[in-house]
Formats: sequence, C-alpha cells, structure tokens
Amino acid sequence: MGKTASTFAKATADKSAATAMTQKDNMPEQNDLMEKIVSLCKRRGFVFPGSEIYGGFANSFDYGPVGVELKNNIKQLWWKRFVHQRSDMTGIDAALIMKPSVWEASGHLKEFSDPLIECTKCHHRFRPDQIPGYEQISVVSKPGEIASFKFSADTVCPNCKTPAMECLNPYQAKKFNLMFKTFIGPSEEQTNVAYFRPETAQAMFVDFKNVLDTARKTVPFGIAQIGKAFRNEITPGNFIFRTREFEQMEIEYFIAPPKTDEDWNKYFEMWRENMLLWIKDDLGIDIKHIHELEVPESDRAFYSKRTIDFEYDFPFGKSELYGLAYRTDYDLSQHQKASGQDLRYMDPQTNEKYLPHVIEPTWGVDRSVLAVLCEFYREEADRVVLASPPRLAPYKAAVFPLLKNKPELVAKAREVYSLLTTHYSLGPIAWDDRGNVGKRYYSQDEIGTPFCITVDFDTIEKDNTVTVRNRDTKEQPRVKIEELQNYISKSLQ
Ligand code: ATP
Repeated sequence: MGKTASTFAKATADKSAATAMTQKDNMPEQNDLMEKIVSLCKRRGFVFPGSEIYGGFANSFDYGPVGVELKNNIKQLWWKRFVHQRSDMTGIDAALIMKPSVWEASGHLKEFSDPLIECTKCHHRFRPDQIPGYEQISVVSKPGEIASFKFSADTVCPNCKTPAMECLNPYQAKKFNLMFKTFIGPSEEQTNVAYFRPETAQAMFVDFKNVLDTARKTVPFGIAQIGKAFRNEITPGNFIFRTREFEQMEIEYFIAPPKTDEDWNKYFEMWRENMLLWIKDDLGIDIKHIHELEVPESDRAFYSKRTIDFEYDFPFGKSELYGLAYRTDYDLSQHQKASGQDLRYMDPQTNEKYLPHVIEPTWGVDRSVLAVLCEFYREEADRVVLASPPRLAPYKAAVFPLLKNKPELVAKAREVYSLLTTHYSLGPIAWDDRGNVGKRYYSQDEIGTPFCITVDFDTIEKDNTVTVRNRDTKEQPRVKIEELQNYISKSLQ
C-alpha cells in the first residue's frame, strides 16, 4: 500500500525518462511506438476499447482473442515458476469483495489515497504530479499527510489552459481514496457498503491461518494469487498501463521474525533475483530496459523497511512495472488485532509461537503484457513482427491449407490442426484459410506466431511433409508431419 508515498516517488522518475530511452533495432521513434502498439492491439485482437459499440468507456479495455492468449501465457508461466516449481509456495484464489473490516484493519479505508487537485475554472480534477510543471517540495513523513508541492511559473491547467497560478492552488490539494465502493444486498445503506479489493495481497493475510492449517507448509513459505484489483485512479492513462480495473500477480512470503537485517535481507535478495530471472528468462525482456529504483525511506509506506520498484523503459517514459517490499509483520499483526484471532505460527522445531514477517513481490499482469508488446514490436521493410519468445506467442503455430477450394488440402490441413491441438497439446494453434499464403504470413507475423505450417500438394501426393515457415528467419523447410511436435516444442523451451 503506501499509495501516496509511492506515487510521488515515481512522479519524479517518470519525468526524466522519455528522453533517456535507448532505441531498439527496427523500432519506430518512441513517441510513435505507443500509437502503433495501440493500433496493432485493436487491428489484430489483442486489446479492444471497452464498451466500444456504445461509444467507448474511458480507460476501460477488453482483451481480444489474441490478447487473452498472451495474457494467459504470462499468468501460466508465472504460476509455473513461482507456485508449481517451488515446494515453499502455494496458491489461493480469493473473493474480489471482502468484508469491509479487512480494509479497515489493513488501513486502506483511511490511507489508500492519492492527492487530488481541482481546477477552479474548468473543475477538472488531476493528480498534481501528472500536471507538467509539478515540482515536489517535501515528501510525506507520516500517514495522512500530503506532500507539499508547487507548479513552475509557466504551468497551465492541462484541460482549460488557464495559468496554474489562477486556477490550481497547491494548498487546496485533497486526499482522494481510491477504493471502489459498492453495496451488498437490496438496499443502498451505509451498513451494506463494501469495497472491490484494491490489491490481491490482503486475502493472503486473511487466509494465512487456513492455509497454514491445510497446506502443511513450514516457515519460510509463500502464498501466491493472481486476480483482479480495482482502483479509482484519478488519472488513468497510457493505454493498459494505468486502468481502474487491472490484474495482479502477488506473493506474500512469510519468514521468521528477523533478529538481524541480514535475516530478512537474504529473502528480499532472493526475491529480487527471482523477479529479475522472471523478466529475463520468462518474458525475455532485455535487462538493459529494466531499472531498479530503491525507494527512499521518506517515500516508502511507513511499515516498509525496504522497497524496490522495477521500472521498464515504456515509450512514455521509465515507469513502474513491478514492486518488491519488506512489510515487516504489519499486516498480520493488524489482522490479528482487528479479528481477535490468533494468527501466530508455531515453529515445529522450537514450539515457539510468533507472527511471521513478510516479503511481498508484486507484478502487474497488464503492465507485463504492455512491456512485452513494447519490447518485441518490430517494423521491417515489408512487415510488422511481434518477435516475442515463442513461449509467449498467443498461437504456437498456424495451420493453412494452400488453397481453400481444394477439399483434399483442407481435409489434410484439418488433420494436421487436430493432431497439434488434440494429440500433441501444444497450446493454441491458429487456423487460417483466408486470402493467399503471403497475407496469412503477414497477419501471423503481426501477432507473433512462430511457425506457419502449410499443407500443399506435395503433402498429400508425395511425402507427408509440410512447409514450416519460421517467423524470424522466414525459412521454409519441409518437415514430416510426425516430426512437427518435436520441431515446435523445441522452440518453446
Ligand atoms: P503506481 O505508483 O504506478 O500507481 P503502485 O506502486 O501503487 O503503482 P502497487 O500497489 O505496488 O502499485 O501494485 C502492484 C503492481 O500492480 C504495480 O507494480 C503495477 O504493476 C500494478 N498496478 C498498480 N496500479 C495499476 C493500475 N492502475 N493499472 C494497471 N496496473 C497497476
């Protein structure tokens, strides 16, 4: 949590970023890149504007047929790496709407807020740090405070362009709670108020005892969760980077109360390294595009002893991709106090009872999708390619009959399609029989399909081989149908 502090820490970093970005090969200018990615997303079915047939719904997005596969691949790789491949981890999938007492105990009802300033002329509302000309003077030093700031002399209201000195008074900034409110049951009374969760994390604390009692884990161990979170962001934007409804992948890793800094720092470092490995080995992102920001004490949540933001060189500037924090035993002790339940763990070796401390690595799913799109978008002379690692590709391969109007080719291609999808279970495989083969290659390149398999007359008349066109090299070797599984699987490692 610690929303106010983290927001301001990042504001300064965000601004210096756009210019410092390194150009990647075959990449359009950074300014154009976001536009091109948004357009690719719409054109090819990664991400659509939400509620579009009703004129759209600002800052709401729907993942389309291709986007949902990319997003699922990211989530599945994450779950595999951090839950299935570790004996010290286990997962949960908790309710989106929890009892309001949870948010009272965690401090979200009081503290989960961003500063907000209203233009006295046009009444538009802004997060002050997102107004060009914003200058921070002091940071938040205790809960409830708002950092003090000013605007440079040439600042104007981003909406009505009135000079800031006439319409934006820093002393009138207010705290704005980001929790989404709703009502449970048929009457809209205060007693029925509930909130959509603003983070997945709290469920891991609330379910801590149940997991402990059922999962046969010993400290240190972690609970993971992937799911939606909701924040009534004042200034959402930059496509799927900051939305009001988004998805998180979070871990609460429970450790024994540390006696020395080294006792918690070794786990913090373990997670730091694991987060970098995920970025490098699963997402395939060049580590040069990642920057670790050690969040200074004055900008951290008051209960956090160390926080790192992992920032990515997005086209709009260096901005937070993931975070890692040591949260002490703040959360469990808050929930123990508020619920009256004993949440302590009993060490089976020493019989000592204690409240574990927590290291929290946290990942945004949508920001991961956006980073992957930005990292692997390439423009070449005759095509656009999403050159992501094949394991992330929405479709692992596409199958085409050379000609749509030759039933024998279509039947054989259907056979190959069903072999790959049903028998070999390679993951999603695309089927395309529209247009000519060149156009099919073009559209599969745009969504990053690593292999295009064409069934032609040689397949049925000669040797049961197909052409397998490689997305990256454009080579088209002939491969025996029975060898396709190995051929494709090799690339998915
Ligand atoms: P920011 O400062 O950018 O608002 P935060 O520090 O408040 O982010 P956390 O509370 O640490 O974010 O949330 C964990 C992760 O969830 C972030 O690292 C990010 O990937 C993702 N995330 C947070 N807010 C949003 C949002 N509004 N839209 C999309 N993803 C988000």
